[in-house]
Amino acid sequence: MALMETKIHVLPEALCNKIAAGEVVERPSSVVKELLENSLDAGASDILIELEAGGKRLIRISDNGCGMNRQDAFLSFERHATSKIRTDADLFALTTLGFRGEALASIASVSRLRLTTSDNDAGLGQQIYAEGGKIKTANEVGFPQGTTIEVRNLFFNLPARKKFLRKEQTELGHAADVVTKQALANPAVSFRLKHNERIMLDLRREKGVRERVAALLGRSLLPDLLTVDKRSNEDLQLTGLISQPQLTRSAASHIYTFINGRYIRDRVVQHAVMDGYRHLLMKGRYPVVVLFIQIDPAQVDINVHPTKHEVRFREQSQVHDFIVESLRQTLRPAGWLEKKSEIPPPGEVENYLPLRQTQAANHDAYCQVGDDSVREATNQYFPQEEASRPNDSNIAATISPLSLPPDQLIYTESSAAHIQYTLPGSESSGFFSRLQILGQYHQSYILCQEGSDLILIDQHAAHERVGFEKLRHAYTAGKIPSQALLFPDVLELDFNSATALSENLQELEQLGFEIEPFGGKSFALKAIPQLLENRNVSGLVVDIALELERIGHTAQLRESIDEVLILMACHSVIRANQALSNLEITSLFQELDRIDFKANCPHGRPVIQRMTLTEIERLFRRQ
Ligand code: ADP
Ligand code: MG
Repeated sequence: MALMETKIHVLPEALCNKIAAGEVVERPSSVVKELLENSLDAGASDILIELEAGGKRLIRISDNGCGMNRQDAFLSFERHATSKIRTDADLFALTTLGFRGEALASIASVSRLRLTTSDNDAGLGQQIYAEGGKIKTANEVGFPQGTTIEVRNLFFNLPARKKFLRKEQTELGHAADVVTKQALANPAVSFRLKHNERIMLDLRREKGVRERVAALLGRSLLPDLLTVDKRSNEDLQLTGLISQPQLTRSAASHIYTFINGRYIRDRVVQHAVMDGYRHLLMKGRYPVVVLFIQIDPAQVDINVHPTKHEVRFREQSQVHDFIVESLRQTLRPAGWLEKKSEIPPPGEVENYLPLRQTQAANHDAYCQVGDDSVREATNQYFPQEEASRPNDSNIAATISPLSLPPDQLIYTESSAAHIQYTLPGSESSGFFSRLQILGQYHQSYILCQEGSDLILIDQHAAHERVGFEKLRHAYTAGKIPSQALLFPDVLELDFNSATALSENLQELEQLGFEIEPFGGKSFALKAIPQLLENRNVSGLVVDIALELERIGHTAQLRESIDEVLILMACHSVIRANQALSNLEITSLFQELDRIDFKANCPHGRPVIQRMTLTEIERLFRRQ
């Protein structure tokens, strides 16, 4: 019988490698990640990473690990060739970062790759050169023990992928990120990162993670970091450093979590970390966290995703609750938690919101203060009853938002989905100034009466709104007035924030900041916007740098300027939980009357709420 013609055929090996490369090799930083993992698995204690053009032209990683002999050197180019596992069972007892045996084959298939390696100290090694995965030459060369892998012209044979690569600085940023994560997990290993012959990171071998954190994220963080060291009965251990709640960031990017030495970005773990800080952070703020989870490898499946960033725990909620409890136990002795403050009930983690949604929700209430530690001064209008203090959210729930006829609603384009209200007669006669002030509630809200309505004003949101309008006005008029600092503040940032800041120094001058590079990842803060006075300005600059990282390049800063002005306004104003005198309230009201949009703070949080007499009477069942 003649062979039937088939539609289906098995793909050639070279094409399979290219397909696999599609999953594993997205950009230069993915190559850096895979090669660093190999060097660490080889037991290296010194690793040099050299890049040219953000890694697009060259990535060279040299280590002093165990190296390979001639046969292994050839085998390492084969797909599914690994020295790290042999059997099914090994997959659930992993002690190495790699195990799939695909990285080198994949990288080789989309680049010009030169491997030089030696497994002995006799000074003799092997060099293999491959183009697009095809071995072109193989020689014996003089070489000390260790391995150097050189990857040139990534995606030279995959133009579609190459098109997606970003500019040099962006790719370098991603690569530095990868190095940062590996370096945090391996303080005993020295890492050097060179870009176009310039040393970008120079990390010596350290005794512990604290020193490594100082070198990578800034020494000034250390006093605010608490040490975590907890062990559960069941083979579960948590170590590392977490920030006290006063040290926060405006993005989750400084939450570094590792499982068995592997950096992961896992939803369950992230959620647990944020839960550990519940009620301690303002909405939209994130801690600085470097946490290492040690778990029985049988309890976690790493083989969920080719890049191994996500994992699956066998006992998901047990791991979640252990992290939450360990963080609470670490924060409690430092005085951050009331004794009876309960650990959130062990919930079904499946039911939790995906992280992205949680973040979006947080953003709305960006400046909301939830820091319970800031309640000090006594309220000057109402005696404060600590014990029976009603829960803020209960009160908020019974108050309906401003009810205005639809023709008084203005939809503005400026910030999507922010509805802004004009208040009756506000423009001409000063709505706020005409309010009858009743007093301050919870040192956070100003209570007023208008006609028979009760008006509540969120003092923080109101101040923020005023600050924002002032800043925006000054910025549009040319430059935000600045004020020189008597003693310049020295800031230390991480690699990516430092890059973002140095790229935007001129723009920042427009915003009233005078910042000078101070060598490495340090900067001297010489002048600050007048409006900020002497508040924690370096914290603000750190936040702005993170925002700049998010925004990307300079051209976009002008478009996203509101975001930066909001950050500045947020730092410039009084927080909630602050007693205000009648005079201060009056002057705040005058300022509110001077600006155009009054009813929403720039984050979309309302400044003012109204409760009618009818609503109040209904509460007391009089209606
Ligand atoms: P995996 O790391 O999953 O095993 P790779 O394709 O990354 O797969 O590497 C294949 C093999 O090549 C590894 O198992 C290891 O034995 C060897 N190898 C790769 N890089 C190095 C290195 N820097 N030093 C020593 N051996 C290496
Ligand atoms: Mg590997």
